[in-house]
Amino acid sequence: MALAIPVLEPPKTLAILGSKDRFPVRRAFCIGRNYAAHAREMGFDPDREPPFFFMKTVEAIEPVEAGVTRELPYPTMTKDYHHEAELVVAIGKGGTDIAEAEAMGHVFGYAAGLDMTRRDLQGEAKKMGRPWEVGKSSDASGPVGPITPHRADFPLKGQLRLTVDGAVRQQATLAAMIWSIPEQIAILSRYFELKPGDLIFTGTPEGVSAVERGQTMRVEIEGTEPISVKVV
Ligand code: MN
Repeated sequence: MALAIPVLEPPKTLAILGSKDRFPVRRAFCIGRNYAAHAREMGFDPDREPPFFFMKTVEAIEPVEAGVTRELPYPTMTKDYHHEAELVVAIGKGGTDIAEAEAMGHVFGYAAGLDMTRRDLQGEAKKMGRPWEVGKSSDASGPVGPITPHRADFPLKGQLRLTVDGAVRQQATLAAMIWSIPEQIAILSRYFELKPGDLIFTGTPEGVSAVERGQTMRVEIEGTEPISVKVV
């Protein structure tokens, strides 16, 4: 007997602050080495190598609700699971070859997120010249909080902070991004047609490190709803 034809789940959706509606997630683009101090801590020279793009599958995106600690299973096949706190930009209007000056008109809103990384597997992939998915796109490796809708005075140079069990591990200003948000949108839209529902993980600052089962991470980014995630 043949198996039944698969029935797909509806798209994952993120809460929208101040609304009962939810934001459906289409794709998740990520920026690598978008903060100079993080590029250096990973052993790279940000003056010689610009940031770049990679992706997580939508399966890895884990919606986190306001005011609730979300349990996140420690993934298989790693002994070095790292946090990367990141501002996530949600795209509300698509386009190709978007001009930098027009880019903010494509932003639906902003959320606090984590680009959780199996660093040992990513390190192996780098060494072997292999793709990054096994390091970057494990199940539940992309927790994202509620979206704050775009407004002209959103603090694009605000503070980002990640704590583990209350101790600060990452702290930076978004102003330290190498590619600003309009630049990210403009550059990305030359490679892909951006579509409504796309997310951009805008990169992590310095201070990435491993978490263990039982630890709780909290990501606070000025202007967005904080998220709390416990590794179990
Ligand atoms: Mn990252």
